[in-house]
Amino acid sequence: MANTKKVVRRREPRFDLLGGPVCLDFINTLDDRFLNQPKELLASYIDLARFAEDTGILSEKQVDRLFALSQQFTEQAARALGAAIQLREAIYAVVWAKVTKKLVPQGALYTLNQYVQVAAQHANLAEVKGRFEWRFEDASNNFEMPLWPIARSAAELLASNELEFVRACASETCQWLFLDASKNHGRRWCDMKRCGNRAKARAFYTRKTKQ
Ligand SMILES: [Zn+2]
Repeated sequence: MANTKKVVRRREPRFDLLGGPVCLDFINTLDDRFLNQPKELLASYIDLARFAEDTGILSEKQVDRLFALSQQFTEQAARALGAAIQLREAIYAVVWAKVTKKLVPQGALYTLNQYVQVAAQHANLAEVKGRFEWRFEDASNNFEMPLWPIARSAAELLASNELEFVRACASETCQWLFLDASKNHGRRWCDMKRCGNRAKARAFYTRKTKQ
């Protein structure tokens, strides 16, 4: 029997993932952040669960369970979405301050630390192929489960030497954040193809709304 496991995705990915660490992709879920009309890509809890699925921070099984529960417990799901947005904006404020060499807003750092601490409470060391990895508890009835790996990702990036290579896309209408992992650290654009497509979609949308 072949032991190569083919990963068949049940759903088409919904998010453009090009940031590198999941915390940067998460920041980018507020699209057009610097334009007049930012686009919220996390409009419902389902979107958050889909983000977790696309990035692989939760398994499909966990996502399915959260999907189902979010239909039943709409208020709790909405609260978790609110927490996710709060976490996202805290990560953004801290990372953006470093990217633009400004003072880090202490309120945002405090908020981020709250989430980092909660994430730590749900993290365990697991032995994987002779090494150890951080694993988060499988608490698939906890709507905030997707937030734990995101908060940890932010903590790890901020405490790493890679922080200085976080860039904002050079396109003024994009400015998505990404980690420049290129050899000479000269990458300026998030992703030519996808960045360009987003710009085109935006132009189309603007034309349509002006008509
Ligand atoms: Zn871009």
